[in-house]
Amino acid sequence: MTKRRKPLLGVALLTLPVLWFACFDKSWFVGECKHCGSGQDIVQFRIVGIPLYEYAYDYETEIQKISIALGNPCLHRSYRTWHRHRYWGMLYCAAPCHNGIDRAIGKNWATGKFLEQVKASAVLDPELPQQFKQRVLIEQDWKYLKAFKESIEGSLTQN
Ligand SMILES: [Zn+2]
Ligand SMILES: [Zn+2]
Repeated sequence: MTKRRKPLLGVALLTLPVLWFACFDKSWFVGECKHCGSGQDIVQFRIVGIPLYEYAYDYETEIQKISIALGNPCLHRSYRTWHRHRYWGMLYCAAPCHNGIDRAIGKNWATGKFLEQVKASAVLDPELPQQFKQRVLIEQDWKYLKAFKESIEGSLTQN
């Protein structure tokens, strides 16, 4: 009896990690709007590809915050979800593993005061909401966005 146990134990010890890595994974999906960059991070814990548990986190870019302040929000017509990382056995990340290029625009500069000023600018210039949408969301003109940001910040310091 004791003679049979040893090989079985050996097989089990070899098989378990292989099974663990083959069956379990933690996957990170990214949903993203091509126009404004807003979207969702979705993290799933999966067994043979079937999600057992997931959580999602929504985020909104500065571009969308400004679009809302202008009264012309992005409707996310160009939205896609893709698989960013898969942690095999919840540990080893590969196939896919994409490291993100965070958008050139930065985070957390469209503050409350900034957005108030954006609203005021839209009242003074009724063309602005459509212009902003065309130049930033559709044409992704970061020079225009930079100039827009500077002009709003400029009028903030004057007050
Ligand atoms: Zn959008
Ligand atoms: Zn990765």
